[in-house]
Amino acid sequence: MKFGGTSVADPEAIERVAAIVRRQMQAGGPAPVVVVSALSKVTDRLIAAARAAETGSGDEAAANLGELLDRHRSVASSLTSGAPQAVLLAQVQAELEALIGLVRALAVLREVSPRSLDAVVAAGELISSRIVTAALAGRGIPAAWVDSRTVLVTDAEHMAAAPDMEATCTRVRERVAPLRAAGQVAVLGGFIGATASGITTTLGRGGSDYSAAIFGACLGVDEIQIWTDVDGMLTADPRVVPRPRLVPRLTFAEASELAYFGAKVLHPATILPAVARNIPVRILNSHQPGNPGTTIASAAGPPEGQFTALACKRGLTVIDITSSRMLNAYGFLRRLFEVFERFRTSVDVVTTSEISVSVTVDDARQLDAIVESLRQFADVSSEGDMALISAVGENLHEDPTLFGRAVTSLGRIPIRLVSQAASRRNITFVLRDADVPEAMTRLHDRFFGAASS
Ligand code: ADP
Ligand code: ASP
Ligand code: MG
Repeated sequence: MKFGGTSVADPEAIERVAAIVRRQMQAGGPAPVVVVSALSKVTDRLIAAARAAETGSGDEAAANLGELLDRHRSVASSLTSGAPQAVLLAQVQAELEALIGLVRALAVLREVSPRSLDAVVAAGELISSRIVTAALAGRGIPAAWVDSRTVLVTDAEHMAAAPDMEATCTRVRERVAPLRAAGQVAVLGGFIGATASGITTTLGRGGSDYSAAIFGACLGVDEIQIWTDVDGMLTADPRVVPRPRLVPRLTFAEASELAYFGAKVLHPATILPAVARNIPVRILNSHQPGNPGTTIASAAGPPEGQFTALACKRGLTVIDITSSRMLNAYGFLRRLFEVFERFRTSVDVVTTSEISVSVTVDDARQLDAIVESLRQFADVSSEGDMALISAVGENLHEDPTLFGRAVTSLGRIPIRLVSQAASRRNITFVLRDADVPEAMTRLHDRFFGAASS
C-alpha cells in the first residue's frame, strides 16, 4: 500500500491512512506493507533549500528547514501522545538537525552535487515514514519502521537510480518478509534507497510508486495499491481538462505509455516490476477509500472502440536535425543519437524523413552543448515551449479510423510532429505548449465527451 504526499499531508490525512490500513488488516491475509512519500510539498522545499545552499545562502536554507521542522513536529505531536510521542519528536528533531548541518556545510562549499541532493531530499521520506509508523502503532496497528536505505539497493545514478532487483529482493526477504510473517505492518519511505556501499540515492521525482512496486514484486504480493488524491487513472490530466472520467481498467502496456507520456498519477517505471511478476496494480483515492479505483492488469476490459485515455507532457524542446548527407547513408543515425547519449539526455519522440530527424527532449539542460555537437555534421535548429499529447489505447490496433478522427478533432491547431509507435497503442502529437489546453479539450470532447458515447 503506497500513500502519496497528499495522502499523508496532515494529521487528518494520516488518520485516514490508519483507517485504510486497519480495514486491509481486517480483510484477512498477510499484513500489508506500507510505503509512504514525504508529506506533500516537502520534497520541493528540500530541493529549494539545497538550491539556496548552492548560492551560498546558508541562512535562507536553514530558515526553510526550520519551517519544515515546525510542520513535522506539529503533525507528529498531534498524532501521538505520551512516551511514543517523545520518542517520535526526538527522531524528527535529530533527522532535521542533521539535515540543517548538512545544508549549512553545502552552503559553505556552494556546491550541491546530485549525490548531496539525494542526501538532502531523502530526509522527507525518512521523517514521514517515522511519523506514519508511530501513528499506526498509536492506533493499535502493529507497525515497524524499516529504513529503506537498508533494503532498496540501487546503482549510483543519483536522482534517477535504478534498483538492483536481486540484491533488493534478498534484503526484502531478510528485513521485510519476517515482519509480515509475524503479522506486523512494515512501514518504509518510498523514493529512497542506497548503493551497495550505503550511499543514499533516490529513484527520481514521483519515485515512491516505483518503490512500492519493487517491494511488492519482491514479496510476490497479490496486489500493489497506489493511494493518491484522485479516483484513479483518469481519461486526461484533471489540471488540463475539466471533469475527466475514471478509467476503471487498463492494461499494463497502456498504463506504462500513459505514465511515460505524462500521466503523473503513476511513476513511469512502476509497472515494470508488476509486469515481471504479473501483479495487478490498483490506483485508489485515499479521500474516498470506498471508490473502486483503477485496476491495471495484463488483460483489460472489453474494447469500446475508443482510446483508453489521453496524456500530455509539457515544457518540451523540439530539435530538428537536417543533413543531405543522410540520403542513402548508413551510420548517420548512430552518430546523431550518440550525441544525446554523450550528454545523458533522453529523447521522447522521434520522427524522420529522408534528410531530417526531429526529436523532443524533456531535459534541456545540455541543449546548447547538444546543438553544438550536432552542428558538426548537420543543420540544427531547436524550439522550446513545446508539448506532446498522447492518445493511448489497445483499440488503435483494431480501429483504423481512430487516427484520422483524432487528427480532425484538433481542427486548425498546428501539429509540429506526429508519431504512431510500433506498439500501435498510442499516437502522439507534438505541438505548441500554449495549444495544449485547447487540443486536450477538443480530443477529450471528441472521444470521452457526452457526444461520443
Ligand atoms: P501522489 O502524491 O499521490 O503520488 P501525484 O501528484 O504524484 O500524487 O499524482 C496524482 C496527480 O496526478 C493527480 O492529482 C492529477 O493532478 C495528476 N494526473 C495527471 N494526469 C492524470 C491522469 N491521467 N489521471 C489521474 N491523475 C492525473
Ligand atoms: N517525495 C518524492 C517526490 O515528491 C517522491 C514521491 O512523492 O513519490 O518526488
Ligand atoms: Mg506521485
